Amino acid sequence: SAPVVAIVGRANVGKSTLFNRIIGERLSIVEDVPGVTRDRLYAKGEWNGVKFDLIDTGGIEMDEEDEMGNLIRVQAQLAIDEADVILFLVDGRGGLSVQDEYVAEFLRRSKKPVVLGVNKLDHHSHHAQSYEFYSLGFGEPIPLSAEHGMGTGDVLDRVVELL
Ligand code: GDP
Ligand code: MG
Repeated sequence: SAPVVAIVGRANVGKSTLFNRIIGERLSIVEDVPGVTRDRLYAKGEWNGVKFDLIDTGGIEMDEEDEMGNLIRVQAQLAIDEADVILFLVDGRGGLSVQDEYVAEFLRRSKKPVVLGVNKLDHHSHHAQSYEFYSLGFGEPIPLSAEHGMGTGDVLDRVVELL
């Protein structure tokens, strides 16, 4: 079967938007309400002739103590366990948050290869905002705009290199 790529990150960073952009269809639900992706969503993706299965996950939040929050976290953990490469997405407009640090710790423990994408940098003039995410410890952060389709190719180049 095809290798698995999981898109992981806190709620509202644009995971579902990126998922839809990569698979070229509007399959995942994009909402302004944080954490709207309750279940994992699978689709087939392909980049530079490399086929993979892509998983969209709900956001991992550190302060979700309710049942639904725990369920999302379990779903995300299952996706991480299944993944060959993690696409860790953060919000470059919002800046580095404690939630990102929490997700990063989660991912470090998985010992899976991680590609760090800094989303919502819709203009080239905003790309410098990706630098602060170096501190997460996953190498060079890649600026992108899932909404405008900018930088997504650079992210996928890095992902398929690791598959
Ligand atoms: P998720 O919770 O991580 O799956 O995030 P969503 O994909 O549902 O997106 C959350 C919000 O961010 C929505 O309002 C999107 O339209 C918005 N968004 C996603 N990607 C971008 C982007 O590249 N630029 C901007 N400006 N907004 C984005
Ligand atoms: Mg979502």
